[in-house]
Amino acid sequence: MLRCPSCNARLNERVICSRCRADLTALISAEQAAQQWFTKAVEYYLAANVEQSITALSISLGLNTTRLAIVFREFIIERQCYEILDLLAQKRVLAAKRSLYKVHFLFPYSKQLLHLNLFSDYLLVNRTGGA
Ligand SMILES: [Zn+2]
Repeated sequence: MLRCPSCNARLNERVICSRCRADLTALISAEQAAQQWFTKAVEYYLAANVEQSITALSISLGLNTTRLAIVFREFIIERQCYEILDLLAQKRVLAAKRSLYKVHFLFPYSKQLLHLNLFSDYLLVNRTGGA
């Protein structure tokens, strides 16, 4: 944190603002914890552990919504959408629904996932044979 969120004064590494005397200890701790969870999310993702990555990212975003974390969330959603579309292309609709459920549960406000979910429901209702 570079500036006081209360009065916008420069903090210069201080936890108590020199201008308005706001105690920013809790805020700075939350920022640091968010950074640690974000690092975990990236590590899990690189280890191909997507579910744990999503969980860690959700915790990080809950503590502090940084631009970087939002971009990473969009990246994961995008990648998951490609994988789900692949499953749908292979007519593996139930496997796609399972993947969607896991991702959608953790990112409930993604329009992309919502649309993909509706599309797979449509395929599920209208499928003619196959697995
Ligand atoms: Zn201040």
